[in-house]
Amino acid sequence: MILGILKELSPEKRVSFLPEHINALQNIGFEQIWIEENAGESVFQSDDNYKVAGAQIKTRGEILNSANAIVSIHPPSADLINKGATLITQMNPLGNVDQVNSLASNGISVFSLDMVPRTTKAQAMDVLSSMATSAGYKAILKSAQELPKFFPMFMTAAGTIAPAKVLILGAGVAGLQAISTAKRLGAVVEAFDVRAAAKEEVMSLGAKFVEVEGATDDKSAGGYAVEQTEEYQKKQAELIQEHAAKSDVIICTAQIPGRSAPLLIQENTLNNMRPGSVIIDLAASTGGNCACTKNNETVVVNGVKIIGDSNLASTIPSDSSKMYGKNLINFFKEVIEDGKINFDFENEITLHSCITHEGKIVSPRVINKITPQ
Ligand code: NAD
Repeated sequence: MILGILKELSPEKRVSFLPEHINALQNIGFEQIWIEENAGESVFQSDDNYKVAGAQIKTRGEILNSANAIVSIHPPSADLINKGATLITQMNPLGNVDQVNSLASNGISVFSLDMVPRTTKAQAMDVLSSMATSAGYKAILKSAQELPKFFPMFMTAAGTIAPAKVLILGAGVAGLQAISTAKRLGAVVEAFDVRAAAKEEVMSLGAKFVEVEGATDDKSAGGYAVEQTEEYQKKQAELIQEHAAKSDVIICTAQIPGRSAPLLIQENTLNNMRPGSVIIDLAASTGGNCACTKNNETVVVNGVKIIGDSNLASTIPSDSSKMYGKNLINFFKEVIEDGKINFDFENEITLHSCITHEGKIVSPRVINKITPQ
C-alpha cells in the first residue's frame, strides 16, 4: 500500500507527519511513503530530511491520483482524489454534511480523526486533545502579548502591580491547558463549565470554579456538554456578565459537538468590560462564544479586543505536527492489518471514525445528524 502525505494549503502550517515518524509508518506495513514536495517547509523539515528518513518526494497530482491511503489535516476536494483511495483527515463531518456526501458519491473512503471515540483505549489517537493542548497554551500566550498589563503580581520599588484576572469559559482540554498556562504566568484564574466533572479538574489546577446551579449533564453524550435549558442560559449569562466585568482576559473554548458554539458573552457584557481587555475565542469557527466574534478576524468593541481563531494549533506547527503524527501512527496501528486497511465495523474506533466507505456513510453520529432519529 502506498501512503501519500499532502502539503497543507496556506495558512495552515502543520503537516501530518515529520521525518521522525516515517520509520514507524514503514514498520506498520506501508510499502512506499510519498510526501508532497515542500510539505515540511513550515515545520523546518526539508525534502532531503524526509528522503533520508525513507520517504519519496512526489507532486500533489501524483499523490492524489495514485496513493492508496492519503493523509492531510484539512481534506482536499473530493473530485481530485482517485476513486478507491482512503483519505485520513480531520474534517468535522458533523458540521460539513455536504462535503461528506460529496466524498461518499465520489467513492472515497474517509476516516476523520476528530470522530475517534473519547475512550481510554483511543486516548493515544486523540488529535482533538493534542490540538486543544496547543490551542489552550497559545491562547494564553497570545492574550498576554495583547494585554496592556502584566500577568503576574509584581512588588516593585515603583509600587505593587496587581495580577491579571483571567476567565476561562469551557474547561475541557483547551480550557484546562489555558488554566495551567495562565497560572504559570501568575494570573488569578477563574473557570466556568456546564459539566459537573469539570469542577474538580479546575480546582486541582488552582483556579476558582464559577458555578451555575441546574446544569443539564447528559451521561449519554460521551463526556461532552449538551445544550442547556433557557432558564439555565439566563442565569449563566448574568453570572458570566458579572465575572467578565472584572476580567482582563477571557479565553472562550465552550463547544458542543455538531452544534453552534453556545453564546456566553452578549454584546452588552462587552460594554461593562474594561477597555484594553482581551478575548480569545477558540470557538470562532462554530460561531464563537462571544456575540461580536468574527472567525479569523480581530475586532475591537468598546476597547475590548476580540480575536476569533480556532486554529491556534497551527501557530505551534512543529510540536502540533509531532503530536498529530504520533496520534495518527497509533490510529494506523489499530486499523491496519497485514499491510491493508481493515474496515472492521465491529471495532468501535473504526466504526465511529469511518465517515464514508463504498459510497455509504458509516459513522452512526454522522448518519444520525443527516437523518435525526
Ligand atoms: P469541547 O471542545 O467539546 O468543549 C470544550 C468545553 O466546553 C467542554 O468542557 C464543555 O463541557 C464546555 N461547554 C460546552 N457548552 C458550554 C456552556 N454552555 N457553558 C460552559 N461550558 C460549556 O470539549 P473537549 O475539550 O473536547 O472535551 C470534552 C470531554 O471529553 C471532556 O469531558 C473531556 O474530559 C473528555 N475527554 C476524554 C478523553 C478520553 O477519555 N480519551 C480525551 C479528551 C477529552
